Amino acid sequence: MIQSYRGVRIQRRAPIRLYPFERFFRGFATAPPILELFGKNAGKILGGLKVEFFSPPFGYMGTSDIDGHLIVSSHHLKTSDLRTLYLDVVHELCHVKQFRAGRALFDRKRKYVDTPTEVEAYAFTVKEGRRIGMTNPQLFEYLKVEWVDAKDLRRLGRRLGVLGTGRPARGHRRRSPPTRARRRR
Ligand SMILES: [Zn+2]
Repeated sequence: MIQSYRGVRIQRRAPIRLYPFERFFRGFATAPPILELFGKNAGKILGGLKVEFFSPPFGYMGTSDIDGHLIVSSHHLKTSDLRTLYLDVVHELCHVKQFRAGRALFDRKRKYVDTPTEVEAYAFTVKEGRRIGMTNPQLFEYLKVEWVDAKDLRRLGRRLGVLGTGRPARGHRRRSPPTRARRRR
């Protein structure tokens, strides 16, 4: 679809490169949390899942609320520690399940930390974090992302039962904000 404007023409449709999820993330279909999420359909669902990458050094991962594919920062993929990547994928696959169930992933009326789909995905991820031996301080650290301020972070931490110390949090990194505008979440 080419449109003209003041003597220039712009092709409004650009290709988006989607890759098979399992080309980059292998073995998740038999990982305990993913079997819990998708049951016997895990292999089929992950086999059909697609992933899109973006390159700027911000953002982490997100799930498209248009068609449920994953959106991953190639910078995050390259530089973050493996445990974080593992937990982020678990978190996003939780959103994939929510999307497949027809739930709205984003709720503009609520804050990120209060969105039911986020609280659920974080709770599931925290459960997995505990299963693999993470402590509350490690889990609280994992919850930190730039777009959540210290007060909201503490609320999320308390809600998830990982906040024991009451230490104020300094924000930094992670899980993609909703990808629609990829301001991310
Ligand atoms: Zn999320």
